Amino acid sequence: MDKEISKCPICGEVVNISRPVAGSNNATTFKYYECPRCGIFRMMDWTGIDQYRESLFLVSAWIREQSRMQFYPPFLVPDCDGFTNDMLRNTLQGSSLSMETPYLAKPTDPVGLVKSLTIPSVTEKQLKLMQSLEKGTKYPGMRISLIDTASKNGIRRDLIAKSWCKNEEELHFYIESLGKRGLLEISPTVPIPSAVLITAKGWDFLETNRHKNRKDSKKVFVAMWFHESMDSTYNEAIAPATKEAGYVSFRVDRVEYIDKIDDKIIANIRSSKFLIADFSGQRNSVYYETGFAQGLGIPVILCVRKKDAKCLSFDTRQYNYIIWEDKKDLKGRLIDRIKALFGQYPGSD
Ligand SMILES: [Zn+2]
Repeated sequence: MDKEISKCPICGEVVNISRPVAGSNNATTFKYYECPRCGIFRMMDWTGIDQYRESLFLVSAWIREQSRMQFYPPFLVPDCDGFTNDMLRNTLQGSSLSMETPYLAKPTDPVGLVKSLTIPSVTEKQLKLMQSLEKGTKYPGMRISLIDTASKNGIRRDLIAKSWCKNEEELHFYIESLGKRGLLEISPTVPIPSAVLITAKGWDFLETNRHKNRKDSKKVFVAMWFHESMDSTYNEAIAPATKEAGYVSFRVDRVEYIDKIDDKIIANIRSSKFLIADFSGQRNSVYYETGFAQGLGIPVILCVRKKDAKCLSFDTRQYNYIIWEDKKDLKGRLIDRIKALFGQYPGSD
């Protein structure tokens, strides 16, 4: 990779750019950007970018949010309809990424993206700012620095994108507002605050919103054995049953792990209204995810194929499992159970 310094095409900050070595077939059209505001992303030349200039702060925020969800690194490819896996593989030459990289980002069309992104409300932006500050806090009571000496105005530019702000001025406004509401304690330094601390009231605010967001969520996390023999169980029973009740099932396709739940799984369980856990195949991961959700007070619908029921771990046999015979049986009983426990999702009849 050749390195150079230039401007971020999205936000205009000074960035490091790497481009694939000359000679590889995408050397001229595709670059890696390391931006202090947007974070790391890949992008192919986007000729019509200027007409969307006013909305690009949303793209900047979107890139940060994708990286946080570990869809990595976000990859903007204009007119990406015809973009094949072979082309994606080509773009990875000379980088540390491969097609096997977990959650490797697929290309996103930036024009479609700009059109679909909406500006969050002032309340939502303040919550996003609080959540980003929370992420940077190793323990309650810790002061979080806001200083970035390389920035023109001295303030951390990543926070502008993480709270979906248009510029520094807007970010300042939210920091001050959160201070006035008693959610942040601000260390006053002229001309900008140097650090903040989340107050006890601020932690209450974060906790209340976590709970509220999850309860309103349509998302259902599915914990199950990721084996091709189980694909039809997901596709023909679990996903359509969830859909029929108005919810959206979410499954993390991944390499089976032994003893670790990764951040992406934790984030997705935390934001789900409930879990569907199928214990057929007796995977450790399903036990971990179920325990994690129950520890957070998130409801779990437990299922198991009849022939696997006798193998269930001792501790969980006391629970009310759906013990299913076949996919049709599972689908029907899941619909009944979801509707009984949570009702049809509002507006989805
Ligand atoms: Zn940028």
